[in-house]
Formats: sequence, structure tokens, C-alpha cells
Amino acid sequence: AKIWTLKNVFEAVPKQNDFELVEEALQPLQDDEILIEALYLSLDPYIRFAATSQKVLHGEQVARILDSKASGFPVGSLVCVHAGWRSHTVVNVTVPRSFGTQVELIEDDSEINPSLWLGAAGMPGVTAYLAFLEKCDPKAGEVVVVSAASGAVGSIVGQLAKLKGLTVIGIAGTKEKCNYIKELGYDYAINYKEDNIYKALDAASPQGVDIYFDNVGGGISDAVYRKLREKGRVLVCGRIAINSNREESGISWHRDILYKQLKIQGFIVLRPENLLHFSRARKDLITLLKEGKIKAKEHITEGFENMPQAFIELFTGSNFGKALIKV
Ligand code: NDP
Repeated sequence: AKIWTLKNVFEAVPKQNDFELVEEALQPLQDDEILIEALYLSLDPYIRFAATSQKVLHGEQVARILDSKASGFPVGSLVCVHAGWRSHTVVNVTVPRSFGTQVELIEDDSEINPSLWLGAAGMPGVTAYLAFLEKCDPKAGEVVVVSAASGAVGSIVGQLAKLKGLTVIGIAGTKEKCNYIKELGYDYAINYKEDNIYKALDAASPQGVDIYFDNVGGGISDAVYRKLREKGRVLVCGRIAINSNREESGISWHRDILYKQLKIQGFIVLRPENLLHFSRARKDLITLLKEGKIKAKEHITEGFENMPQAFIELFTGSNFGKALIKV
């Protein structure tokens, strides 16, 4: 097996020489074990924070079963599993994986590309579904702002918000991404690298913002908080702008939390109480994808050896869509 390991703990944005590729011989299978070969590996921003002292980098993959001593997991079928940045892995299907997740068999009849199990019908999509639909109390006619709006999470939040009848404002880092989110149905797209965010938000939401789905933190969030209306809701989903050397957070919005009596909450999809709802959310997302009610863009880099570079690019905005490695 080929394995990407962590050589140095990341300082701010990860660098190529923080990673080391090693080879490992695999042991023969025991009962309840399967041998899998990665087809797609997921690149997610959280891996930066999860990479502390563990040797193999965290990550989920869609893989094919090459050999099996586990009932219900036949050779040739596909699984979705937290197996780390590994080309081949021996997995015991009865033992919980990272964050308490399980090995999941990808149903033959799901009729969507299996790579979507890592994106729109996987962890990022489920995050969007549960955090936006079930935590933000969205109502038709309200205004929501989504940051990192073209990304794996943001693009689904925006589309779900449109299906619910909200006015949706997306913030993204390039013209192409802004055009794309408009195609997805966003009412307004703000390019935070070219537009004045404060003025653009004033123009798009003269009455103010009801919900902010915050994927980034930092200066973008400072601007959006100031536009929140009384009793607004904020879902803090991510902080990709923090500590990435591009922007540091201000805390001016603390004042707004106080005086506008805002309700703010965080959400981590890979916590036991949220994992309980994962399958239900995934099922609904697969239906929406099959019916063409939501769309998913993937940013696929070929080659296991290119994992570190493709991961690093998440933090420069080079990915346009859910970042995946195809082996
Ligand atoms: P994306 O697919 O959106 O990829 C990351 C994108 O973030 C980049 O393409 C870039 O787009 C944007 N970005 C990078 N650096 C900055 C910066 N300094 N300022 C503003 N934008 C930046 O990633 P995901 O959709 O998978 O994740 C989005 C957020 O959601 C992340 O913060 C992630 O950690 C979080 N998350 C949280 C989960 C939870 O359970 N709470 C679960 C999954 C994800 P652009 O060109 O537009 O800047």
C-alpha cells in the first residue's frame, strides 16, 4: 500500500514537504476484514486541523473491495470509509473508524456517481443539509448569505435555500465561481477579491440579512455580521480564512451579537449526535441529485501522488467544486 503520512505538523497553510509518501506491506485478511483499493479520495479543509500528531492523514475514500472475509461485503462492491490517505487498506468492518463512523456499502441502485458519496451526497452535502435546514430555521422570503459559496458545502446550502424560497447571496473568490453560483440559482454573487463586500451586501440586501452560513470567518464574516438583522441566525460551519495567512479575524461582530440578540451556533457533522442523522440526510440528497433539483461540481485531480498538492490548493482557492483525487 502507498500511504501519505504527515512529516511536519502544518504551520498555517500546508506545504508539500510536510507530507511523506511511504509504502507498507499489508497483512493477510482475518475474519470480518476486507481489502480495499481507493478509487476516489476526499480532500477536505478540516484535514488541516485534524492533522496533529497522527501519522497517516485523515480522510474518507470510495474504494473497491478486492478481497473479503466479511459477510455482507462482497468482492467487487464499493464502500465509503474513513481509511486515511492510503491506496490500499485492510479494514475490519465491525470496528468503528475515525470520528465513530462505520464502513458503508454503496448501494448498487443509488444511480449517482459513487464519487458523490464524498461530496454532495457525503460529508459536505450532509453538513449543508443538517446545518442549514435543521439548525438555521430558514423561512421563505428570508435572506441568507453563504461564504465559500461555490464549494462543496456552500453550493449545497445555496441550492437548498433556493428550494426553500429564500433570497440567496453567495460570496466567492473568482468571477468563474460567481458565474457558477448564479447558474445554480443564487440571486446575488459577490466576488470578495474584487468587490467591496460592504457595498455589495448593501446593494444585495438593503433590508439586511436573516441568516449567515459562515464557512470562512475572518474579514468576510466581519462584513456579513454587520448586515445581520435583529434576531438573525448565524451557523458557524468553518473557518478556512483563519490562520491561512490570507486574512485574520477581527472581532467587531461581537458587538452585533450582543445588541441584535443574535443566535449563533456551531455545527460539526462528525459528532455522534449528528452522525445519527447522516443516512437520512444522505438519502434525501441522493433523491434531490437524481431528480436534478440540486447539482454538484467536482474538482478532480488524477493520481494518488498528487494528493498533497491538491490538498494545499484548497487553501488558495484553486479548487472549483468538491476536491477529489481519482486514483
Ligand atoms: P470548499 O470546497 O469550499 O473549498 C475551500 C474553498 O474555500 C476554496 O476553494 C476557496 O474558495 C475558499 N477559501 C480558501 N481560503 C479562503 C480564505 N482565506 N478566505 C475565504 N475563502 C477561502 O470546501 P468545503 O465546502 O468542503 O468546506 C467549506 C468550509 O466548511 C470549510 O471551512 C470547512 O472546514 C467547513 N466544513 C465544516 C464541516 C462541519 O461539520 N462543521 C463539515 C465540512 C466542511 P474561494 O475561491 O471562493 O475563496
